[in-house]
Amino acid sequence: MSLPDNEFGTRRKRVVVIGGGFAGLNFVKRLDLSAFDVTLVDRNNYHSFPPLFYQVASSGLDPASICFPLRRELRKRHGGRVRFSMGAVEEIDTAGRRVVTPLEVIPYDILVVAAGTTNNFFNMPELADSVYTMKSTSEALRCRNDILALLERASIAPTSDERRRLLDFVVIGGGPTGVEIAGAIGEMKRYVLPREYPLISQDEMSITIVEGSDRLLRTMSEDASAAARKSLESLMVNIRLGANMKEYLPDRNRVVLADGSVLPASMVIWTAGVTATPFRWMSDAGEGKPTVAVPPFVGHGGRLKTDAYCRVEGLEDVYALGDIAIVSGDPAFPTGHPQLAQVALQQGKRLAANLNALTAGKASRVRAFSYNDKGSMATVGRNRAVVDLKHFRFHGFPAWMVWMFIHLISILGMRNKITVLVNWIWAYFNYSTSLRLLIQPSRQPDNNDLGAFSEGEESAGDS
Ligand SMILES: Cc1cc2nc3c(=O)[nH]c(=O)nc-3n(C[C@H](O)[C@H](O)[C@H](O)COP(=O)(O)OP(=O)(O)OC[C@H]3O[C@@H](n4cnc5c(N)ncnc54)[C@H](O)[C@@H]3O)c2cc1C
Repeated sequence: MSLPDNEFGTRRKRVVVIGGGFAGLNFVKRLDLSAFDVTLVDRNNYHSFPPLFYQVASSGLDPASICFPLRRELRKRHGGRVRFSMGAVEEIDTAGRRVVTPLEVIPYDILVVAAGTTNNFFNMPELADSVYTMKSTSEALRCRNDILALLERASIAPTSDERRRLLDFVVIGGGPTGVEIAGAIGEMKRYVLPREYPLISQDEMSITIVEGSDRLLRTMSEDASAAARKSLESLMVNIRLGANMKEYLPDRNRVVLADGSVLPASMVIWTAGVTATPFRWMSDAGEGKPTVAVPPFVGHGGRLKTDAYCRVEGLEDVYALGDIAIVSGDPAFPTGHPQLAQVALQQGKRLAANLNALTAGKASRVRAFSYNDKGSMATVGRNRAVVDLKHFRFHGFPAWMVWMFIHLISILGMRNKITVLVNWIWAYFNYSTSLRLLIQPSRQPDNNDLGAFSEGEESAGDS
C-alpha cells in the first residue's frame, strides 16, 4: 500500500475524525499512531455521556461528572500525538479532501465521520424553539434550570390554579430517555416536593408521558415494558399509550394529541426522534456547489450508508461510525444497527483494527463489522431498573445495581466515576442533593445582587 507525503514531510496519512463521542474517541484510542497523523474535531472540548443526561436534567448529577475534557483524554492516552480542534464541522468537501469548520479548513487523507445525531422534530420544525430536548449536556442543563425555575415560581404563586398551570410536565416519547426523565421528575414530585417546596401540594404537579405505540420501551421485552409502567405509576406519572402529539401551543400551555384531546403543558420534553447530524457535502473541488441536496449515500434518518467495513458508499477513504452510520452486511441487523453506545464503541474498535492491519500489510486481518449485542437496560427512578440480556431478563433493585455498575465503568475518568458513585449512594439514602442550584450565566450581577451589595461597597470606599 503506498502512502502519500503529507505537509509534515512524513509518510503518514492524515486521519481526520469528526466527533469525539463513543465511536470517534474509541476509534482514536485504538488507532496505531505511529502510522497516522490524527486530528480529532469536535464542536465541544469535552466528551459527554448521553445515557446520564436525564440525571443532569433532573438535578441528580452535575454536568462536570458526566463530561471529560477531550484534550486531557488524548494527552493521557497519546501523550499529545493527536491534534484536537474545537469546531462544528459544517462542510465536507470530498473532492478537495477537506472538512470545514467556521474557524478552519482541515485537510485529510482518511476521513472518519462519527458526529452522532441531533433532534428530529419530524414535520413540526417550530418545536425547536419551544420544547426541551436531551441530546447534549447543554440541553440537559437548560432543562434542569427551567424545571427549578418553574418550581420556584410555583412556590410563590398565590393560587392553586396558578401553581398547577406552572407544573404540568409532558414528556413526548416512551423510549428509554422518555421513561428515565419522566421517572426522575416523578421522584422530584414524590420525594422532593413535600420536603423542599412545602407550599406546593403534590396534586398541583402533573407528569404525563406520551407514547405512540401500545407500550413503553418498545425496543425492549414486554416484561421490561410492564415493569417500567408499574414503576412510573408508583411515581405518580400518567401514561398515555397509543397517543401521538399533533401540536404544541406554548402560548396557551397546551399539547394537542392526534385524537383531538388536549394536555395542559407548562414544559414539554421531547425525546421522540433523532436524525443524523447533517453536513453540506461538496464534491466539486471547491467551486462552491453542493453535490446534490441529499447525496445517494445519505439514507434513512439522514444516516450515512456504509458497507460492512464502515466505508461510506461511493466515497473514497471516507468512513462513518456510530449513530450517524447505517452499516450494512450484518445478517442479524438487515436494516442497520440500533443507535446505541455499544454499537458505536464496537464500530470504532473494528475500524481502528482494520486500518492498523492494512497499514501493517496484514490485509488478512481485516474483518467486516459484526455487532455483539450485550443487551439493553433502562432505569426508572432512584433505585429501579429493567435489564434485558440475551438469555435473561430481570427488573427492580438487582437490575438497578447492574445498571449502576455498567454505567460507572463506562464513564470516563476516575474522578467522574467516584463523584457519580458518591452522588448515587447519597441520593439513595437521602433525597437531598446540593445540585438543585439555579445558576444562570450572566454578564454581571443582576439588579437584586447589585442593590444588596452596592451600599456596603460605597461605604467601604468612602471610609
Ligand atoms: C439522552 C440519551 C440517552 C441514551 N441512553 C443510552 C443508553 O442508556 N444506552 C445506550 O447504549 N445508548 C444510549 N444512548 C445512545 C448513545 O448515547 C449513542 O448511541 C452513542 O452516543 C453514539 O455514539 P456516537 O459516537 O455515534 O455519537 P455521540 O456519542 O453522540 O458523539 C458525537 C460527537 O460528535 C460531536 N459532533 C456533533 N456534530 C458535530 C459537528 N458538526 N462537528 C464536530 N463535532 C460534532 C458531538 O459533540 C459528540 O461529541 C442515549 C442517547 C441519548 C441522547
